[in-house]
Amino acid sequence: MRHLVLVLGDQLDPGSAALDDFDPEQDAVWMGEVAEEATHVPAHQQRLVLFFSAMRHFRDRLRERGIKVHYHALGPDPAADRGADFVTLLQADVPALAPQRLVVVEPGDWRVQRRLETAAAALGLPLEQRADRHFYCSREGFRDWARGRKGLVLEYFYRHLRRHYGVLMDGDQPAGGAWNFDRDNRETFGREGPGELPPAPSFEPDATTREVIALVQARFPGHPGDAAAFDQPVTPEQAEAALDSFIRHRLPAFGTWQDAIWTGEPFLYHARLSAALNLHLLDPRRCVEAAVAAWEAGRAPLNAVEGFVRQILGWREFVRGVYWLHMPEYAGHNALGHEGALPACYWDGDTDMACIADAMRSVLAHGYAHHIQRLMVLGLFAQLYGVHPYRFHEWHMAMYLDAVDWVSLPNTLGMSQYGDGGIVGSKPYCASGAYISRMSNACRQCRYDPRQATGEGACPFTTLYWDFLDRHAGRLRGNRRLQFQLRNLQRKPEEERAAIRRAAAALRERLGAGA
Ligand code: SF4
Repeated sequence: MRHLVLVLGDQLDPGSAALDDFDPEQDAVWMGEVAEEATHVPAHQQRLVLFFSAMRHFRDRLRERGIKVHYHALGPDPAADRGADFVTLLQADVPALAPQRLVVVEPGDWRVQRRLETAAAALGLPLEQRADRHFYCSREGFRDWARGRKGLVLEYFYRHLRRHYGVLMDGDQPAGGAWNFDRDNRETFGREGPGELPPAPSFEPDATTREVIALVQARFPGHPGDAAAFDQPVTPEQAEAALDSFIRHRLPAFGTWQDAIWTGEPFLYHARLSAALNLHLLDPRRCVEAAVAAWEAGRAPLNAVEGFVRQILGWREFVRGVYWLHMPEYAGHNALGHEGALPACYWDGDTDMACIADAMRSVLAHGYAHHIQRLMVLGLFAQLYGVHPYRFHEWHMAMYLDAVDWVSLPNTLGMSQYGDGGIVGSKPYCASGAYISRMSNACRQCRYDPRQATGEGACPFTTLYWDFLDRHAGRLRGNRRLQFQLRNLQRKPEEERAAIRRAAAALRERLGAGA
């Protein structure tokens, strides 16, 4: 055999560079479902269904194209596994296949890349790593952009890519005269709520997906979530249909309400395309082109289209660049010195905090929460509570369908938990229950009062918010963007601050007892 082409579970791109010079006469593809990824933290059942089903569909498409695929499918019995991890399986297969070279698209996970390099060296084989064309910006391109900069600012990177690719540009100026329209994108649903929402696309499981659902139910019955409720895209065609549905039905209102939360409405106007994107079933260029075309045709306003484009062309590319620029040190950052474990409600949703209970209902039912629930409810509470940032990343990797290492780590350890001390965000996202009260209706259904930091009905967010500022005041004093919040803390009399500390300690003890 000439090339053994390795395809990882998040590389299901029909136009993958790994297949560029594929010769069916001399080459073969190798893929493997591995138990380790499912069990090192107990992965959500629907996450397992998504990966295994999408991989099996990809395998079948390759075979239809006349490509030989060596595929390791997990079975219901762990004792029948030939290896628990990707590298062990590969090392077991390679001697019999006897390739001259291993070919892979550069993995999205630093750890996987290192392990593949080690395995190839142990096998005495060259490992050819090809650039991942899925992304707008290569790892080297980001490194070049970052070189010599004092800090990495999303806004500048985003403008650089907008100009470079001519996206939403009017000559050398941004379309509409501004680079972003955030001021238009902070509406709430008030007291009335969102009214009737557009339908969320749902995909009936086919025979392959049903087989995987049965496998997950048999092999991982204690994992969070319900495999049987899985209804997400597992092929490029389904991903394209999901994109089309978003552009038609939800993009026009996406911007205006992108930061709003409404209890019992997990999707609102969000795209829910990130899982398909991160498995490479969907090309980010297709998403950007479709959104821009909708604006050009007058079917979506600029504030919505620009907000969506910024998520894909800006933020998604930015966090990937940060990841590869700073790994492996990045994973070890813990700037706030947080060491806590996640409260038990992050696994079972059992809590009397209405906002967390609502977000967790979505996570458990769909392996999904929209970005503001992730950042300003589940992420915020973990940060205020003092969860270790890498533990929060691991939880995120287990519970969300769309989580892959390069996207999860900067978003959780960095953006959400401020573990990186300001590499991806210029300040911790800390807020009290008042923020959630403003952006959602959850507090109206909650036994706690978002205005109260101490006493019987004190909102745990509000207690922990003041406690967070109090604990970290020394560390955060130099941060210009936190001055207002720190001044408000200083205005509180010492007795009140002491009462908050006591309330926070009691809360931690209560929540920690169930962790
Ligand atoms: Fe969440 Fe506090 Fe509001 Fe309850 S009162 S929903 S815990 S922010």
